[in-house]
Amino acid sequence: MTANTTDDWPEGVMACYVTVGGTTVTLWDADEWQPIRAICSGCSTSNLDGNAGPNSSDPARWAQSHAGYCRALPKPN
Ligand SMILES: [Zn+2]
Repeated sequence: MTANTTDDWPEGVMACYVTVGGTTVTLWDADEWQPIRAICSGCSTSNLDGNAGPNSSDPARWAQSHAGYCRALPKPN
């Protein structure tokens, strides 16, 4: 997997954190429906999930922390 450049990021993406499993945790900017949130593309967990664990109230910290231990890979299509 190659790292994306900022040119490839969709609108609304504030940051991406590469996980130890090789996927990404994406930090999304707030929009009219949701606050700033981090979502893992490997395990689909978000910092907004009820069981997100430590740092879940701080999306950037949660993203950094989650990327440090998540080894999940997304299910192939
Ligand atoms: Zn994850």
